[in-house]
Amino acid sequence: MALKKFIILGEEILPGKGAELNLDVARLHTRTPIQVPVIVRRAKVEGPTVLLMAGLHGDEINGVEIIRRIIRKKFNEPLCGTIICLPVFNIFGFLNMKRELPDGRDLNRSFPGSKSGSLASQFAYHFMKEIAPHVDLVIDFHTGAAQRSNFPQIRCVLDDEASVELAHIFNPPFILNSSYISKTIRESIVERGKRMLLFEGGKANSIDELVVEEGINGVKRILSHLGMRSFKIDISKDRSPTVLSESKWMRSPNSGMFQTMVKNGSEVKKGETIAIVTDPYGKYEKKVNASMSGFVICVNEAPIVYKGDAIFHIGKLRP
Ligand SMILES: [Zn+2]
Repeated sequence: MALKKFIILGEEILPGKGAELNLDVARLHTRTPIQVPVIVRRAKVEGPTVLLMAGLHGDEINGVEIIRRIIRKKFNEPLCGTIICLPVFNIFGFLNMKRELPDGRDLNRSFPGSKSGSLASQFAYHFMKEIAPHVDLVIDFHTGAAQRSNFPQIRCVLDDEASVELAHIFNPPFILNSSYISKTIRESIVERGKRMLLFEGGKANSIDELVVEEGINGVKRILSHLGMRSFKIDISKDRSPTVLSESKWMRSPNSGMFQTMVKNGSEVKKGETIAIVTDPYGKYEKKVNASMSGFVICVNEAPIVYKGDAIFHIGKLRP
């Protein structure tokens, strides 16, 4: 039986072949066209289409490195189906080492976008029109903003059993319940009946080896599960994810120098001292006590904080 035609960005990808294409979005003020590279590899055998994407926020580099290594090691060459890699989505932000687009908008609050909207909205529109219709599953890689470092985690709606099952197959240290946020890519993808895993790990403008390894291993497990690749995965390193049903941010009680006393990912008890905020002149050391029992899933690595800055994100174990 003949395989279905696969045409993406105006190009037909034949079975067993691949292509390096560009998503044409807009031009710079210098008239330089801005093209977002899209790398497609198709197997000779029919199967699902998986999209690996990163850099939706231009300063979130861990995901870019995860996908770069996947391409470099040729893990994106499937035994069945198609793998699409979009290593740097917000290429404007990546050039400027900024989270947003040049117009200051957050691409992840601009979906599904419109042809005549803001630059961010046009980006979202082209993606939803040219790429999204082809895919069955999206794995989207993010990091914490600024110096806030997320311990590797998959965020999904715990009531959505199929997503939770996929999240368990990905097997990150944590799975965090996270409801859909309006105008995000996740909401748009799920509304179109497709699956999406949102990975969070590390902080902006940084490459964290632990996070990169967790991301690559998760992709390997998902591709193996879908029959798209077969990887030998070291089971001894596997553990079950800790499932967290809710989470809360803790904020700094003072402005000052911030020193954490717990490791990211560790379990804390309510009332336990987990950090101190100090002044430079030796006058005070303000203790910061855990506001609830749970797991630390994000630590602010900034040495200096203002009163009210988010310093820890704590997740509560699902009852
Ligand atoms: Zn992000």
